[in-house]
Amino acid sequence: MFDLSGKTCVVTGANTGIGQGLALGLASAGANIVAVGRSQPEETRAQVEDTGCKFAFVEADLGDISSVPAVVEKAEAAFGLPAVLVNNAGTIKRNDALDFTEEEWDSVMDVNLKTLFFLSQGFAKRWVAAGERGKIINIASMLSYQGGIRVASYTASKSGVMGLTRLLANEWAAKKINVNAIAPGYIATNNTAALRADEKRNAEILGRIPAGRWGDPSDLSGAAIFLASTASDYVHGTTLPVDGGWLAR
Ligand code: NAP
Repeated sequence: MFDLSGKTCVVTGANTGIGQGLALGLASAGANIVAVGRSQPEETRAQVEDTGCKFAFVEADLGDISSVPAVVEKAEAAFGLPAVLVNNAGTIKRNDALDFTEEEWDSVMDVNLKTLFFLSQGFAKRWVAAGERGKIINIASMLSYQGGIRVASYTASKSGVMGLTRLLANEWAAKKINVNAIAPGYIATNNTAALRADEKRNAEILGRIPAGRWGDPSDLSGAAIFLASTASDYVHGTTLPVDGGWLAR
C-alpha cells in the first residue's frame, strides 16, 4: 500500500533541507525523483541514486510563474507523467510589520503561494487530460495555524497554503486528484538557522516541543510516503502536522 515503485515524484526545492529529506524518503519507498529548483541538487542526486531510483533535475526559478509550463513539460519528459507533485520550495523574510517592504511581501508570496498554485494547476491539467490519478503534497507550516512574529508575508503565504489545499481538494477530489499538505514543526534547516542561532529563541522553542528536540527532515518521510501512496486515496484537503507535538501544547 505504501510502495511507490515505478512512480515519479516531482519535488521542488530538493537540493537542501526538507525537500532533500522528502526526495530521499520518497525514493526509499521506490519513487523516481524529478527535482525542480534553481540550485544544482548534486548531493540529493547521489542520495537518491544510491537507493536504486532514478533522478532528474529541472532548473527553474520558482519566484516567477513564467517558469511553470516548461517545468511541467520537462518533468514529464524525464520519466513520463509524474504521479505526485510536492510543493516544497519556500522562502522567508523577517522584519517588523511596521517596516515590512513590498519586496519582502512579494518575494515570499510569489514562491510560497503563487507558484505553488500555478504549478499545481499545471500538473492537474495534465492529469485530467490523461485521465490519470495525481497527488499533490503542499508544505504548510505551524504558521498555517498560528500568527508568528516578524514574518508577515510568510504567515500570509502559509495560511494561504492551508486554505488552497482545501479549495483544490474540493475542486479536484472528484477528478481523482488528492490535494493534501504536511505542516512541519520546527525542523533544523537553513530556513530556521537564524532561530537556532538565537540562544533565547532556541530555548523558548525547544521548551514547548513535547518531543524535546528539533525535527530532522527525515522525520517528514512517513507522512510524505503516506500522502504519495495509494494508502491515502480517500484523504482529501487535510493538513497533517508533523511537529513533535507543538500544536498539542
Ligand atoms: P531551506 O533549507 O531554505 O530550503 C528552501 C528550498 O526552497 C531550497 O531548495 C531553495 O532553493 C528553494 N527555493 C526558495 N526560493 C526559490 C526560488 N525562487 N526558486 C526555486 N527554488 C527556491 O528551507 P526548508 O526548511 O528546507 O524549507 C522547505 C519548505 O518547508 C519551505 O516551504 C518552508 O517554508 C517549509 N517549512 C520549513 C520549516 C522548518 O522548520 N524548517 C517548518 C515549516 C515549513 P535554494 O537552495 O536555491 O535557495
